[in-house]
Amino acid sequence: LFEPVKIGPVTAKNRFYQVPHCNGGGYRDPSAVAEMRRVKAEGGWGVVFTEQAEIHPSSEITPYIELRIWDDDDLPALTAMTDAIHAHGALAGIELAYSGANSPNLNSREVPMAPMHTPILTFTSDPVQARAMDAGDIRNLRHWHRLAYKRAQRAGFDIVCVYGAHGFGIIQHFLSRNTNQRTDEYGGSLQNRSRLMRELISDARDEVGDNCAVAVRLALSEASGGFGNDELRDLVAMHADLPDLWDFAHGTWEACSPSSRFAAEGANEELMRGLKQLTAKPVVGVGRFTSVDLMARQVRQGVMDLIGAARPSIADPFLPNKIAEGRIEDIRECIGCNICVSGDMTMSLSRCTQNSSFMEEWRKGWHPERIKAKTSERKVLVVGAGPAGLSAAHKLGLRGYEVALAESGTELGGRVTRESRLPGLSPYGRVRDYRVGQIASMSNVSVYRQSKLTAGDILDYGFEHVAIATGATWRRDGVARYNLLPPLIDAAMPVFTPDDLMDGKRPDGHTVIYDDDHYYIGSVLAELLIAHGVTVTYVTPSARVAEWTVATLEQGSIQARLMKLGATVKLSHGLSEITSDAVIASCTYTGAPSKIPCDAVVLVTARVPTDELYLELHKDRAAWGDHGIASVELIGDAKAPAAIAWATYAGHRYAEELDEPDRGDAVPFRREVVGARS
Ligand code: ADP
Ligand code: SF4
Repeated sequence: LFEPVKIGPVTAKNRFYQVPHCNGGGYRDPSAVAEMRRVKAEGGWGVVFTEQAEIHPSSEITPYIELRIWDDDDLPALTAMTDAIHAHGALAGIELAYSGANSPNLNSREVPMAPMHTPILTFTSDPVQARAMDAGDIRNLRHWHRLAYKRAQRAGFDIVCVYGAHGFGIIQHFLSRNTNQRTDEYGGSLQNRSRLMRELISDARDEVGDNCAVAVRLALSEASGGFGNDELRDLVAMHADLPDLWDFAHGTWEACSPSSRFAAEGANEELMRGLKQLTAKPVVGVGRFTSVDLMARQVRQGVMDLIGAARPSIADPFLPNKIAEGRIEDIRECIGCNICVSGDMTMSLSRCTQNSSFMEEWRKGWHPERIKAKTSERKVLVVGAGPAGLSAAHKLGLRGYEVALAESGTELGGRVTRESRLPGLSPYGRVRDYRVGQIASMSNVSVYRQSKLTAGDILDYGFEHVAIATGATWRRDGVARYNLLPPLIDAAMPVFTPDDLMDGKRPDGHTVIYDDDHYYIGSVLAELLIAHGVTVTYVTPSARVAEWTVATLEQGSIQARLMKLGATVKLSHGLSEITSDAVIASCTYTGAPSKIPCDAVVLVTARVPTDELYLELHKDRAAWGDHGIASVELIGDAKAPAAIAWATYAGHRYAEELDEPDRGDAVPFRREVVGARS
């Protein structure tokens, strides 16, 4: 894994290749992105790539925020990034994107262009079509690429990559029979469909090939069948030594970055096998790699030369260095939750469940491995060992504080321990494992299990700082988004919450799962009950099963799985009433009621913070001084329930800000404000 790899005229110092990945920041937050990439280089990655960089205003994917290399105005931000990457001896790569059939151009208002007339193929079905490119358009496209290559070189990049994967890049649109039905020399045979790719790569070599490597990124197999894995093999054989490096992603983004619930580590191995043998040039593959043995085996067996990674490099930017130093137990493994993806999908800075410093490296000065030393000798009590409490204790321990972590149960991990026992969620336990493992070697952090603390206990102990991370419980009254007031629930109907099912209770007979939470739990519980032989009807006010999981690329897979498992799915219906023998659901559009006879109901709605301890302590605030208490803070789900990433972030933030001066009304992070220009 630590052998240098020659890539055309440049050499990567090792086989760790951070493939392009979005981060929700892009052109809007260039300093945040540059610092994030710098930290990857510092962590030992041999190659660090940008996210996709759009080469021309006639192809931009607003509302999603990526990079741009439209003209020289973009160069300062890109140069800052290459400087940051080079500062630690990594090669800097740029993924040049012309999105064609995927670019609605909502911002630039230019007419999109593609191999053929086609509606824009985005998530949002924008009412826009792309125009079929004529010979002049293709000449322009090559010219724009030449300009981008030159600019990339001037910005200091060592690798320029022509992009055609995930359904996003124009060369994939030309390669696929689905999106290329041309009858000229760019359509028809594989030779013809790959003509544009060949021209773009040859042009790049002419422009920058002396000191920049020229890579191509392609789909291993397009799900819709327009360009399958067999044809990819023919293509690689046909153009074996054309690029300096072949980078193989997958057909759609959903197929390339499935969550751990739907694909194991190294899932692309079969599609990758044999490709490397078709070329003398190095080959990159991805597969959410965090296991050193698996990486080494894939290299040894000739599956790939370079270990491509996006999510593993987000969860642990120091993965290569930790492997080099033999610190395997210190690796913060990606859990495959795809919360990072949701940043791009929601046009907000990405966050990571495991690495709460991700995209805060510049904004807040956080670092995944280092944290400033303590500024006082005050002792800290953290109550509750869920993701928030564990994160707080870990980061406080790193700062050098004396920390006591008290947990009422016998197990650590809170919700992640409980949820990791549900179908498909076992990797979520890594959130606990990493932190518990780190704390175990800290002599200044003491962990107390079976220690359910009361306000009286806390006052008596007299720790100067107290963090209350006591979590939350699922509601039983049906209140969430659709019902802001409790609906009628007949006491004769057995009603379960997710907590009940995680405690091992099970309904009998036909069960309605009512999902007004819209993330993963409702569908996971449906799987759990079906596996126990329960007949499930899944009801939700949304028009989709687990609607929010569009942002984690899971929605299609979740809905398909429930349908295949035989759950009855009733969409666009909100809960009106639970009677003794049925759920009355109403159409969210017409209000028309439907009666769904059932024997039990599972309410997946909202959660109530477990904040009694905090409230009680605050009632007694006057007594704090006598007991030596300086502060009591509520963090994580106990403050406001959210996804796990929010809890690890809250714990980290608590530790970072402890004993820091109050910033008053100041914006709590650095930002880049665009100045007006005449
Ligand atoms: P978060 O996601 O905010 O970390 P969790 O619900 O995962 O919250 O974890 C909260 C943890 O706090 C649970 O493990 C729970 O057992 C523990 N806890 C709750 N109340 C107390 C208490 N009074 N004393 C000690 N531990 C508590
Ligand atoms: Fe992995 Fe989840 Fe972090 Fe993404 S957010 S890198 S999937 S742990």
